[in-house]
Amino acid sequence: MSIHVTVWNEFEHEKVDEKVRAIYPDGIHAVIAGYLNGLDGIEAGTATLDQAEHGLTQKTLDSTDVLVWWGHRAHDKVWDDIVERAHERVLDGMGLVALHASLLSKIFRRLMGTRCSLRWRMAGELERLWVIEPHHPIVEGIGEYIELPETEMYGERFDVPDPDKVIFISWFEGGEVFRSGITYTRGNGKIFYFRPGHETLPIYHNEQVLKVIGNACRWAAFGGSREIECFHGGKNIKEPLSPLG
Ligand code: ZN
Repeated sequence: MSIHVTVWNEFEHEKVDEKVRAIYPDGIHAVIAGYLNGLDGIEAGTATLDQAEHGLTQKTLDSTDVLVWWGHRAHDKVWDDIVERAHERVLDGMGLVALHASLLSKIFRRLMGTRCSLRWRMAGELERLWVIEPHHPIVEGIGEYIELPETEMYGERFDVPDPDKVIFISWFEGGEVFRSGITYTRGNGKIFYFRPGHETLPIYHNEQVLKVIGNACRWAAFGGSREIECFHGGKNIKEPLSPLG
C-alpha cells in the first residue's frame, strides 16, 4: 500500500519574484511532489494557499498520511480553522514534514508550543549539514554530511522544545550552528523539521535534500493503530473518548 503525501505550498514567491519563478516555474510543491511520485510506495498530491480551504479539506487531510509544509511569507494568511484541522490530524497520526521557514508557520508553532524564533542572514554562505544519527531512517543513503554551496543562514538559538532526535546539525561559513533536522512526536503523529530550502536558491533540485524529504515521508507515515486503549472507571474503553464524567 502506498503512502499518501500532500505537499502544501503557500505558492506566493513563485508568482511575484522572477528569480524564484526561474528556479521553480510550477512552484516548489510541484518539484517536491514530482520527486516523491518517482519513488516506490509514495503517491504525492499538492495543495496551495489560494485553493478553497487552502487545498486542505477534511477529506484531503483524512486521506493524507504525511503533510509536507512549505511556507515563508504568508504564514498569517493561513486560516486558523485549517490549522486546527491539520493539528487534529497530526494528533491522530498524520505525519508532518515542515520545511525551511515553515518553522514560523502556524501549524509548526502550534505543535511546538513555543515561538520557534531563530537567527538568520541571507548571505549565500556555504552550509554543511552534519548527520548526527547515521542509523536513522531519515538519513538512509546520505553520507557523513550534506554540503550546500550557497544557502541562507539559520542560527541558534532556535526556540523549540527539546527534540526527540537531532538528525542534522548545520555549520555555516559565518560561524553559526543550527539544529537543521529534528524530530518530534505529538499524539500519534511524527514530525520532522528540515531546514534547507530558501526559495531564491535551487535547494529542492539537490538530490540529497530530496532524498531526505522522501525518507522523512516514509518515516513519518503512521505505523500503528489509531485506536488508543484507555482504562477509565475500571472499564477498558476505546477511542473516541467521550468527555470524562
Ligand atoms: Zn528563506
